[in-house]
Amino acid sequence: MRIILLGPPGAGKGTQAQLISKRFGMPHISTGDILREAIKNKKPVGLKAKTYMEKGELVPDEVMNKIVTLRLKESDCDMGFILDGYPRTKTQALKLDEALSQIRQKIEFVFYFETSSEIIIERLSGRRICKNCHAVYHIKNMPSRHANVCDKCAGTLYQRPDDKKETIKNRLEIYTQQTKPLIDYYQKQSKLTKVNGDLAAEKLFEVLLEIFAGRKSE
Ligand code: AMP
Repeated sequence: MRIILLGPPGAGKGTQAQLISKRFGMPHISTGDILREAIKNKKPVGLKAKTYMEKGELVPDEVMNKIVTLRLKESDCDMGFILDGYPRTKTQALKLDEALSQIRQKIEFVFYFETSSEIIIERLSGRRICKNCHAVYHIKNMPSRHANVCDKCAGTLYQRPDDKKETIKNRLEIYTQQTKPLIDYYQKQSKLTKVNGDLAAEKLFEVLLEIFAGRKSE
């Protein structure tokens, strides 16, 4: 399966991507994680991306398209993948279609996580991430067993600098201007399925599994 998870920051895309990835053994490609890893390892692309990310702005399309095009050529993507955080602009969506058609592949599912603003703010402000394996937690809804320690790898949990209130507002505005138009783009291709991003993670995962199983279509 080739899947895109579309939705505002805080919609739960990362959590669902992790669950799908674990269940089906498919790579979870989070462009945000790729960039944060590049920053951590002081790679040139990370240094370039850092200033945009800190302000909650989008990293230029050329940079993102290159990262994803290369990643999709890796062999673990042959049988499918989950894209989380890409595409985020129409230019990226067009580039993705072009890159996939060159390798005779196409996107099968685009899930749009419809999520209310109160839930987004609550999720982003309580979100904690593992520095080491990028696992996602929430201080209230999905706490780790030991405070600030990852259950999976014992890495340290931290709050993303762009999850602070001041930056969240900017990210949401940019989402509305640049990413939301993709709903229409994928709807026109009859690929879009709207799901309720307000649902708790386990519930939403059940909905996705039903859709995969072909038992439910919206
Ligand atoms: P995320 O972890 O998906 O919320 O992404 C964190 C930040 O990384 C975003 O606010 C952007 O600055 C940058 N970023 C991630 N993916 C993309 C993308 N596809 N296009 C542009 N910027 C991106």
